[in-house]
Amino acid sequence: MNFEFATPSKIVCVGRNYVDHARELGNEVPKEPLLFLKPPASLIGPGETIILPPQSKQVEHEAEIGVVVGKRLSHAGRDEAEQAIEGYVCLNDVTARDLQRSDGQWTRAKGFDTFCPVGPRLAKGLNWKDLEVVGRVNGVERQRAKASQMVFSIPAILSYISGIMTLLPGDLVATGTPAGVGPLVPGDIVEVEVTGVGVLRNPVEAFQGNGQS
Ligand code: MG
Repeated sequence: MNFEFATPSKIVCVGRNYVDHARELGNEVPKEPLLFLKPPASLIGPGETIILPPQSKQVEHEAEIGVVVGKRLSHAGRDEAEQAIEGYVCLNDVTARDLQRSDGQWTRAKGFDTFCPVGPRLAKGLNWKDLEVVGRVNGVERQRAKASQMVFSIPAILSYISGIMTLLPGDLVATGTPAGVGPLVPGDIVEVEVTGVGVLRNPVEAFQGNGQS
């Protein structure tokens, strides 16, 4: 990966954390954070190519605010969790929507190689309350929301996760995507922008067989 970023022990993600996105997929707004994992092998950096796998006919972008954990967190309260934030990245929780529906759980839909672009840098010293995330495909805005609109705030998410599994320095947390998710096709350029972090830009290509990552 062409981005200075220690491989996390895990990537923990929150589903349906914006009301409008839960509704656009016909889902209820969760009463507590809905967690799933992406494998560290899905990470790519800025400019690297998202590969559309042959197993899916509907791969979609999900623009998200990514949180990098700086300190070990176990059964932490919200204040401790907030103080343990190392910084923020733009993150694209690329999802095979058809497989997410058909499989009944999300490991395959969320876990393909190249399905977790992050970057363009790790931004420190930001206040999560000021963050806004924007998603664009080929320069056209598709998604926009403020962190303050999340169902569960960033400190609440970290605290909740830490009551289940210990978060380690370098772990990455994907905080959910706003409404406006949509399909990616070969030749697209997908962007995720987060206030004060920058723009993460990745091209999209079809899988070409062995020899291509
Ligand atoms: Mg997501």
